[in-house]
Amino acid sequence: MTTIEAIPAFRDNYIWVAGNKQYAAAIDPGDAAPLLDYLESKGLALVAILNTHHHGDHVGGNLELKKKFSCPIYGPAAEIIPGMTHPVSGGDTVFLPEIEMACEVMDIPGHTSGHIAFLSKDRLFCGDTLFGCGCGRVFEGTMKEMQHSLEKLASLPEETLVYCAHEYTLANIAFAREVEPCNDMLRERGEKALEIRKRGMPTIPSTIGLEKMTNPFLRCGIEEVAESASRHEGRPLRDRLDVFSALRIWKNSF
Ligand SMILES: [Zn+2]
Repeated sequence: MTTIEAIPAFRDNYIWVAGNKQYAAAIDPGDAAPLLDYLESKGLALVAILNTHHHGDHVGGNLELKKKFSCPIYGPAAEIIPGMTHPVSGGDTVFLPEIEMACEVMDIPGHTSGHIAFLSKDRLFCGDTLFGCGCGRVFEGTMKEMQHSLEKLASLPEETLVYCAHEYTLANIAFAREVEPCNDMLRERGEKALEIRKRGMPTIPSTIGLEKMTNPFLRCGIEEVAESASRHEGRPLRDRLDVFSALRIWKNSF
């Protein structure tokens, strides 16, 4: 039985650890120290590192961990990843026999140009692309690529668990409520998330179903979302991509 644990790192990152009673794999270990503490406390050996993209807060622990455990490092073929041994891209499968876990690789460019996600049955590790009630900034790719990547993730089954790499949910909900004040599910999500954070717990994972009902970046075709974006932009918006771009730019300065 493979379980998933959240290891908080830096201010608001999560390093996800998939493992059993003996072995573990880490997704986006930006910092080695908190992960090493965790592995030691549980007596676990690290058997693989999976990286979604090249940013330092996702790959910063790679070399130290590789030195200690000699583990393979899977990462996006289109990016430079410290210590990468297995470059992968969309359609590839990563199999980790020690923890009986298979991951399908998905190409989801936008935040960075080679960003990938790992999908293991109903668990999605999507780095900085889809967040709880939000999405990552578009740094290297185009708005069109980012929107397409988000639509690809939104087309996964509703029960898919979304393991993103940051705890941004409350701030994202504040923005989402500005965009869509009449969405009751969003209001409820906000109340629940606040209560969870007061207890110091992660609001992640969420589900694709919940994101589709509350995340404005997956709701560009909804009238209230499009109208808010248009009002904020001060012009009529042509299509969903135009709405998405307006929302992303608005959120950057929110
Ligand atoms: Zn990033």
